[in-house]
Amino acid sequence: MPDLKTGRPSLLADVDVPAEPKAGEGRPVDLSKHRRLILASVGALLAIGVLAYVLGGAVAARRNDPGVASRIRAVIDSETGELIREYSVPDGASLPWKNPRSGRATLYPAATCYWTREGKAKLDPTYVLLNEDVGKPGATICPDCGRTVVPHNPMPPTDLLIEAAEAAKAGRK
Ligand SMILES: [Zn+2]
Repeated sequence: MPDLKTGRPSLLADVDVPAEPKAGEGRPVDLSKHRRLILASVGALLAIGVLAYVLGGAVAARRNDPGVASRIRAVIDSETGELIREYSVPDGASLPWKNPRSGRATLYPAATCYWTREGKAKLDPTYVLLNEDVGKPGATICPDCGRTVVPHNPMPPTDLLIEAAEAAKAGRK
């Protein structure tokens, strides 16, 4: 209402101090906008960092030798529970794969669970042998967190992974 502003007695104009801070209110709003932008950028960068961290091993392995390394995977021995993180799958071999230590065909690809018991994410997964792979009935339960593990087990949400990456970073300091 322009009439109210212009219609004020000139004496009151000096009293009308809030006009100054009001004009300045624009700044905090802009700042919070900036903060939001910065936070979003940081979040995106962290998400990329987490993905790079998690996928780093596999990508690096593939870079070394595309022919062989693409067939390197984490496997579990169904008899001993032994975990082999980087097992080179023999060409054309069908499941179960042969364990070089025992000479027995008892190796199955391991599923990965990135959940903690507290419902947070972790960057170092628990490797789990799937019941369906070894012909056992029922759902496979992660021995670490108690969640159900399925083939191509999904990762926890990105924000939880970012939280885990930040916690790991803080722990390293
Ligand atoms: Zn788990």
